[in-house]
Formats: sequence, structure tokens, C-alpha cells
Amino acid sequence: MRAMDLEEFLDTSLSDLKEKGLYNTIDVLSGANGPEIEIEGKKLVNLASNNYLGMATREELIEVANKATEEYGVGAGAVRTINGTLQIHIDLEKKLAEFKGTEAAIAFQSGFNCNMGAIPAVMKKGDAILSDELNHASIIDGCRLSGAKIIRVKHQDMDDLREKAKAAIESGEYKKIMYVTDGVFSMDGDLAKIPEIADICEEYGLISYVDDAHGSGVMGHGHGTVKHFGCEKRINMQIGTLSKAVGVVGGYVAGSQKLIDWLKSQARPFLFSTSLTPGAAAAAKKSIEMLMENPSIVEKLWDNANYFKAELKKIGYDIGNSETPITPVILGDENATQKFAARLIEEGVYVKPIVYPTVPLGTGRVRNMPNAAHTKEMLDRAVAIYEKVGKELKLI
Ligand SMILES: *Cc1c(COP(=O)(O)O)cnc(C)c1O
Repeated sequence: MRAMDLEEFLDTSLSDLKEKGLYNTIDVLSGANGPEIEIEGKKLVNLASNNYLGMATREELIEVANKATEEYGVGAGAVRTINGTLQIHIDLEKKLAEFKGTEAAIAFQSGFNCNMGAIPAVMKKGDAILSDELNHASIIDGCRLSGAKIIRVKHQDMDDLREKAKAAIESGEYKKIMYVTDGVFSMDGDLAKIPEIADICEEYGLISYVDDAHGSGVMGHGHGTVKHFGCEKRINMQIGTLSKAVGVVGGYVAGSQKLIDWLKSQARPFLFSTSLTPGAAAAAKKSIEMLMENPSIVEKLWDNANYFKAELKKIGYDIGNSETPITPVILGDENATQKFAARLIEEGVYVKPIVYPTVPLGTGRVRNMPNAAHTKEMLDRAVAIYEKVGKELKLI
């Protein structure tokens, strides 16, 4: 007898994925990831990126990244607790705290790493985490890593949250209890009910944790979903990414000075993984400064999103109940969704089909992310293609 070797594992698992239609093929772009992209010589309107504000390719940010690279080098050298920290990381964290309206902030290498670091640093075996059932994969993984008991809460169901919080407390089994939620749910674009969440967390003594990866730079005049609801002082831990609206890479946790002190000595991705490159830290800081100083950048995103949504609705699509620029076109059937996306791409709109298990069975959709860098001509072109393909497939 022998154990299954790697080759055999990969052969069986890969063919299984392919059979289930879950195997990823990844397109290669020629050139940058802008509002329009080129794939295999074909130009497409890019409605798939999270680059909400078009920051990823802004000249001002490229310049700042280059300058920081010249000053500090291409790499940070080591983790900050070992090698010391660069001034640019400290400057970024100060700016993030100001941006989020908190005492302090800590930068990580990615939003994913924030959840890997911050949740297990605070929640331990013997604690419980109440978690919205549609939370992002990195939240789910961070919760698992913590060793705390995970209690799933029905999506955005505040009665269910209240009941489960009460039951967890009355059981007497848990020392600390956290409620964790996305600020904006990325598949539907719905907003977490922050004021009610803050009420419930305060009433029951829960630690409140909002991962606002899709809300920062978008909601609350760019400051995020928590600020949108005026709850900066009521949410214990605010998480954001520097890779979506901010347009660079990295993530952060914002909260009290004590929380950040704790994370700087306990969050494992901070302790054991090299910090952001100087260029990334400088560009992220500048990007946040730009969106704070110039509200028209965020307004442009909303103008484009509102226009695009209205046009899709006008031609007869179901675009769900998104409260953000995220614009799903919901078909329901999985196969129809795949075919729809394939035709849209052929015609010149770059979108991805999103089907089970990423979203519930029977709610297949194509998700559009209009952004501030799209011109009206690009959006009109996309809408015309939606109309053509929709009629052809008898969807509208
Ligand atoms: C995208 C996303 C992340 C991951 O952020 P990265 O910076 O890309 O690692 C984490 N949490 C949520 C809710 C997200 O949507």
C-alpha cells in the first residue's frame, strides 16, 4: 500500500474541477488593467475590475510610486518588527487613521492578510464569532484560523443576529463574542446595516468587525460604509483594502490605539511576512489623499454607476437591489449565465459569469463594475452590446 501521490491527486482533482465547470482559465491582458483592456488583440470595455476610482493607472500615483522606489528601494527588506519600519509605512498608517476617523491603523500586505491576522489575534479558542453567511472567503478563513466557535448568521438578518448573540451569551460557553460582516456584499452590492449592528453589539457586548473592502473609496464620500452611517466611533474594528478603490495593493485595520498596538505585536502576517513595498505604500497614501481632497473623483464613480444602472434597467434587465456601483445582471440559470457572459465578451464587454457556489443556486449573474475612469462612450458601447446580446438570447 502507498498513499496517493501528488500526480494522482492532481490528475483526479483537476478533471473533477473541469467536469464541474469550476476550473479557472485566466485571460492574459496586453497592457494595463484600465477601463478598456485588450485580450488577444481584441479591445473590450472592462466591467470586471475593482478599480472603482480608476486609481490603478493614474499618472500621479505612478510618479509617487517611482519616487518612493528611488528613495527607499523596491523592497522593504524584512518584517517591520525585525528590520525597523520605514517612514512611508508610518505615514500611510497615519493617513489611514485620519481617513477612517479612528485613533490608529495598521497596514498589512493585503486585505486577505488583514483577516488572517486581525481575527485570530483577537479571537481565540473559547470565544465565539457570529458571522454573516455571505461573508468574504478571507473572513471565513480568518475565523477558522482563530479556533473560535463559528456561528453563521442569516444574511443581513438582524433578528437572527440578536437571537444568536443572546443564545451564545446565555450558554455561558464563550468568553468573548464577535460579530463580523462585510461592509458591502460584493455579489449583490447590498450594505451591512451598520447602525443596527452597532446597537446590537453594544447591547450584548459583542466586538464589532466590519470588512469594508468594497465600501472604502465608494461609500461615505469615499470614507467607507461605517462613515456613511456615521458610526466610526461605534465599530471596534474597521478593515479595508488598498487594492480596490485605492487602486494599489495592501490592506489595513483601523481602530483604537490599543487595538493597533495589540495587532502590531500579535497579528501573524504582520510579524512573519515582509511589509508592503515602499512604492505601494507611497502610492496608496497618495491615492487616499487624492480622494479625500477631491470629492469629484468619488462623484464621477457614482455618476457613471447610476447612469449605467439606469440604462441597463431601461432595456429590461433585472439588476437586483444594489446600493453601490456593483451592478449584477441576474439571469438565474447557471448555463444561461455562462452563455450570456461568453457572448458579451465576444461582442466587446469584459465581464465574468458568477454562479453557484459563489452565489446561491438559481441566482447566476454577470457582475458589472462601472468605474470612475469609464467614459460615457465606453458605457454606451457596453449598454448597446447588452441590448444586442440580450435580444439575441431572448433575455429582454
Ligand atoms: C476583496 C476582499 C478582500 C481581499 O482584499 P485584497 O486586498 O485583495 O486581499 C477581503 N475582504 C473582502 C470583504 C473583500 O471583498
